[in-house]
Amino acid sequence: MEQRIQKGTNFIEQIILDDLEAGRVSKIITRFPPEPNGYLHIGHAKSICLNFGIAEQFKGECNLRFDDTNPSKEETEYVESIKEDVRWLGFKWANLRFASDYFDQFYGWAIELIDSGKAYVDHQSAEEIRQTRGTLKEPGMESPYRNRFPEENLELFEKMKNGEFEEGECVLRAKIDMAHANLNMRDPILYRILKQSHHNTGDKWCIYPMYDFAHGFEDAIEGVSHSICTLEFEAHRPLYDWFLDNVSVPSRPHQYEFARLNLTYTLMSKRKLLELVTQRYVSGWDDPRMPTISGVRRRGYSPSAIRRFCRDIGVSKANSLVDIEFLQYCIREELNRTTDRVMAVLNPLKVVIENYPEGQTEYLDALNNPEVEEPTYRKVPFTRTIYIEKDDFMEEPPRKFFRLAPGREVRLKHAYFITCKEVIKDENGGIVELRCVYDPETKGGDAPDGRKVKGTLHWVSAEHALKVEVRLYDHLFTISNMDEMEEGKDYKDYLNPDSRKILTECFVEPSLQNSQVMDRFQFLRHGYFCIDYDSRPEKLVFNRTVSLKDTWAKMQRKG
Ligand code: ATP
Ligand code: MG
Repeated sequence: MEQRIQKGTNFIEQIILDDLEAGRVSKIITRFPPEPNGYLHIGHAKSICLNFGIAEQFKGECNLRFDDTNPSKEETEYVESIKEDVRWLGFKWANLRFASDYFDQFYGWAIELIDSGKAYVDHQSAEEIRQTRGTLKEPGMESPYRNRFPEENLELFEKMKNGEFEEGECVLRAKIDMAHANLNMRDPILYRILKQSHHNTGDKWCIYPMYDFAHGFEDAIEGVSHSICTLEFEAHRPLYDWFLDNVSVPSRPHQYEFARLNLTYTLMSKRKLLELVTQRYVSGWDDPRMPTISGVRRRGYSPSAIRRFCRDIGVSKANSLVDIEFLQYCIREELNRTTDRVMAVLNPLKVVIENYPEGQTEYLDALNNPEVEEPTYRKVPFTRTIYIEKDDFMEEPPRKFFRLAPGREVRLKHAYFITCKEVIKDENGGIVELRCVYDPETKGGDAPDGRKVKGTLHWVSAEHALKVEVRLYDHLFTISNMDEMEEGKDYKDYLNPDSRKILTECFVEPSLQNSQVMDRFQFLRHGYFCIDYDSRPEKLVFNRTVSLKDTWAKMQRKG
């Protein structure tokens, strides 16, 4: 499936416009509600851009709310990383909230349901509850505890709260309809016993509300006007509505669902991403190959490129798979406008220019960025010994190879024409050096006699170049649609063994000496790079954000 790039008003914005027009709401309040059980990924970015974007657009508010109803998987490290990611994307929350701030209130509403005969304490085991739930074709079976009187339920629930039961001994369930066509409505569990500390409430509670019970209430407490979530919660909506309609909530939110973002070659599940981290398939949550926001940030993506991506993929109700090339296109296009072009040699081959005076250094003018209106220049040192790319020389070039070869003349970017005179090899026949001559008349890249060369190579002065490390990345997985794994196979069977290449003998021009972490450049002919956190002044480390090859734009032009 291929996604269409749609612009303009999406269906959720349309609903909001209608609600405003009809006077059904006066203030737009949204929220982004992550569970703090992992780092955010690019799918979450879609939800963040949507929720915060709507609040901005309609002069409303968006809360950042941590859905921390489950004490066992949640950690403050995740809370902090999520805050950082939302800020980095360029959004400001109106309020920072935790579902756990509302535990007292949820408890009160549970009491209200019990009081009105709409909830009961069930002593069946989790297994029994699952087995009596029925199927899509068959109704479920009512629990033998279902018709207890409210007084008894109140007493038992109080005991649950006071820790007088063990984990698994009993739960609180809603009394709805065991024959309901929607399985979510068959007496869902509201509270379970978990004798665990919570990152926010410590040991105050040993009963914790289920996500489904809490979620709609959180929205109601915060006055959320449009509760936006992904399609998998569509079948939960009647349950949320049932909760809201059966207790005295302060406001009545409405839920709207959209299709989650799926990307080719990419996994988008926190659980699996966590596994990649803990089992050390990647270097961490912020490994530049990860689809996490911290990963793409380290890789060199900018917030504006991510926001543009999220806007242009659109919001719809149909599940689809977005081509990762489009994400790459978004950052490439931006970096093309904003970065300076510099020369970096990733696989160096030494070249000695025999007729260039020994000990001489010339500083040549190099254009920084041809895309800006007022171009600026820097000086690049040129000397007798330079490095070029190994790949830019072939001893026996095939017909379409236009770069350097014995006896052939090429242009050195910003510098001179050189001609290869001799190839020097080691005892194994490996090429270690080229001897060339230059034409002093061709300074700046043109020959006064009008003769042409077919190839232009980038280069660095051996004496001046900085030795750096360069990390090149490819897809983390080998199949484009992660939903199409063969039977019996696991996503780890599809890890790409060549997803990262670390080159430690690279050379860049000296103008990069004082670069800072996250500075971005175009390395001529290699792509866009940024400085990694691992950089030290004596050893810069670059990540390739994206190559220059633009398959996306090409695909679009072909139609
Ligand atoms: P995961 O499956 O990766 O664990 P999740 O849905 O469990 O994700 P939450 O922390 O509950 O993670 O997500 C917070 C919000 O982000 C939710 O509103 C959810 O719908 C939304 N979201 C999660 N994944 C995507 C996605 N791939 N595309 C769009 N929105 C998403
Ligand atoms: Mg979730």
